[in-house]
Order: sequence, then structure tokens, then C-alpha cells
Amino acid sequence: MSDTSSFLTECDRRYLWHPFTQAATHAAPLLAESARGIRIRDADGKEYLDMVSSWWVNLHGHGHPLIAKAIADQAAKLEQVIFAEFTHRPAISLAARVAGLLPGDLERVFYSDDGSTAVEAALKIALQYWRNVGKPRTAFVGFDGGYHGDTVGAMSVGRTSGFFDMWQDMLFPARIAPFPATWDGDPEVEAKEAHALTVLGNLLDDGQAAAVIVEPLIQGASGMRMCRPEFLQQAEKLIRASGALLILDEVMTGFGRTGPVFACGKAAIQPDLICLSKGLTGGFLPMAITVARPFIFEAFLGQDISRAFMHGHSYTANPLGCAAGLASLDLLLAPECTQARAAIETVHRQSLDRLAAMGLIQRPRLHGTVAAFDVPNPSNSPEGVIGSRLKRKFRTRGLVIRPLGKVVYLLPPYCITTDELSFAWGEIEDVIKDVS
Ligand code: PMP
Repeated sequence: MSDTSSFLTECDRRYLWHPFTQAATHAAPLLAESARGIRIRDADGKEYLDMVSSWWVNLHGHGHPLIAKAIADQAAKLEQVIFAEFTHRPAISLAARVAGLLPGDLERVFYSDDGSTAVEAALKIALQYWRNVGKPRTAFVGFDGGYHGDTVGAMSVGRTSGFFDMWQDMLFPARIAPFPATWDGDPEVEAKEAHALTVLGNLLDDGQAAAVIVEPLIQGASGMRMCRPEFLQQAEKLIRASGALLILDEVMTGFGRTGPVFACGKAAIQPDLICLSKGLTGGFLPMAITVARPFIFEAFLGQDISRAFMHGHSYTANPLGCAAGLASLDLLLAPECTQARAAIETVHRQSLDRLAAMGLIQRPRLHGTVAAFDVPNPSNSPEGVIGSRLKRKFRTRGLVIRPLGKVVYLLPPYCITTDELSFAWGEIEDVIKDVS
């Protein structure tokens, strides 16, 4: 390590507070100097392959010149403007383009800052919708293991994700249905789905649920837990019958992660509200949107300001973020990107099958560009210990992979080549053999 980098690391230790990190025991963070494509270079020139798209945000690789240029051009024109007084071209264009890609009549776009605020806005819109139509409903239904972000509403509906035990005292009550997590060759999937649907039906029975929120197809943070489209279709029927609104949290699954542009398209379900962030700007800038169907928006119209949605953030619809979003969409919708996502899925499929046939992994699962499996744990070590050990080993091999306990997953930028992805799977095979 050079003198400069050791000095900076010392300053980091002195001044910074990193997220999801126990500073007392954690190894020093890597000092990122630059990044291109899937490679992140540290201050000493060592390269790491970003197999988690830097917390699932980066779609097309780091430093993509088209997105960088779009941001620079926009910065020279209009960097930020108060969105309660003004509108602007990038915000209008991005809203119209995303609305055009979403299923059905999802078209009214509310901008915010990150996944948590997109969810918080959706929950508040749902609650106020019922009040505005004169039939107040106050209950929310989430799914076991669901993670929706760190703000109080998002934590409340994600209370069983395992991340929020510390703050149970500040959360509002939420009804939680089982999530029928499944994997290749799971013999119990139908029984689990039937049970989950029965419980969901019971939770909705009293007609008090304002909304049901779910991460469609993949619950991310609680361990890349996957469900089948069939389950979501059945759940949607129950939700419709109860009159509750359906909120889809596609903060992680949106923008191609499960193959098609949105997981709701793959699952063939129609939400009333959808939350999008992470990939929205291709991973360049923090921004989010909550998109509502027209009947919801219309319930907020009237002569009285109290009917309006009195919620907003200083950087709402930041023009730089919107410009990045437009450039990222151009890249996403190019045929090469669809082919690249299909190629990733093929390599994932082959690699999962190979490792499963060798008996090295458990519960292999896959939706589009997201592959996951459990690492066998014959000695019953605490899951956190296994995860940290694996992460260290991946890091020494130049791979950024952050296991969620004993769950290893890959969620790479779409620009990864099949050779690079196969290389990563080969390294994973070695590491798993080494730890088991
Ligand atoms: N919803 C889902 C499904 C997520 O995966 C996340 C972040 N991991 C969030 C919401 C919260 O997003 P953010 O961290 O940007 O607030």
C-alpha cells in the first residue's frame, strides 16, 4: 500500500462511519480509485470484479461514457431546480418513457431519492388514497423476509427481514404473510404456496388492508429468496378481491434484473403502485420513482390542499439524475442489452447446474441475471461467520461478492462478458471447495 493510500485509510478510520459495518472488527474498506465496466481499481492498482453491481445499482458497467456525458451535458444546462415550482425536460421525458414501459395504466410518476423513499411515498400514498376516497383503511400487509428500506414505514412492512430488530419499538404494526421461497427441484413448492395464500387470504379478510407490498419474484436483502410467478398471480387475485392496493417494490428487480424490463411483466401481474430506484440512473446517481395508476392520482385532486400529497424532497426530480436515467434507458432498451442479459442467464444456469451436480451447493435458484445458492453448512457455524469467511476469500481472488449469510449470489452489470462470468463461477467453485 502506498503512503498516500495508507494515509487515506487512516483518515477513513478516523472520520467515516460506514453503513452495515461493525467498525470495531471490520477489515479496512478497499480504497476505490477508479472503475470501468465491471472492474473497480483500488489505489494500488489492484482490480476487483464487481459481481454485485455495487449494491445492485450499476446496470451497464462503471463509468459508462454515454451516461457520464449525459450528466455532464445536463450539468452545464440545469443542475437542479425546485420541483414544486418548476418542471423540466429530463423529468418529463424520463417519466413518459418509464410509464411507456410499465404494464397497464401505471403512468403517474412521483420522484424521490432512493429505494426507501420510493417505498415510503407508496405507503403514504396508499394510506391517503383510502382517506381521500372516504373509506379509511389503515393496515398494511408485507411478506415474511421482505426488505423495503431503512425509513420507518419501509422498516415496518419489512420488519421480518432480520435487519430491524433494534428498532421494533419505533415501527408501526404490519400484517405479515409467509413468502413461499423456492429453488430448483423444490418438492414442497406447491404446499408452501397454498399455505402462504391461505394466510394471505385470512390477513385480507376484514377488508382493512390499505395495501399489500411485495418484492416480486426475488426478495433481495433477506437472501435472494425467489418465488414463482404462479404464486404472485394467485396472490394478486386475493388482493384484488379484498380491494387492497398492490404495491410492487421493484427497487432491485427493476430495469432488467429478472430478464424482462420489469419483474411484474415476467410475473404477469399488474400493480397499482410500483417503486423503482437503484438501476434507474444506471447506478450513477441516487434517484427513485413511485408510479401510480390514474385512479389513485385522481383521488388526490380537489380544491382543498389537504387532499394533495403533501410530501417531497429537496432534490426531487434532480435533472442530473433524470439525464442519467434517460441515457441508461437508451442502453437498456438496445437489443444488445437484451442479448447480454440472456447470455448472463445461460452462464448462470449452466454453472448452477454444474455445481449442484457436484454436490457443492444447495437450493440453486435463478431469475434472469440474478443467481443464488446456499453454501452447505455441515458444522452448523453461525451464518454470519460463513458469510464473512467467504467474502474474505472472494476478495483475495479479486471478486466483489457479498454473501448474505450462507447465501452466495451473483448480480453482475450487464456488460460482463461470458468469459468473465465463467471465470467468476470457476473461482466460486474453488472457494466453496476450500471452505466446505
Ligand atoms: N427495496 C428493495 C427491494 C431493496 O433491495 C432496497 C435496497 N437494498 C430498498 C428497497 C431500499 O433502497 P435504498 O437502500 O436505496 O434506500
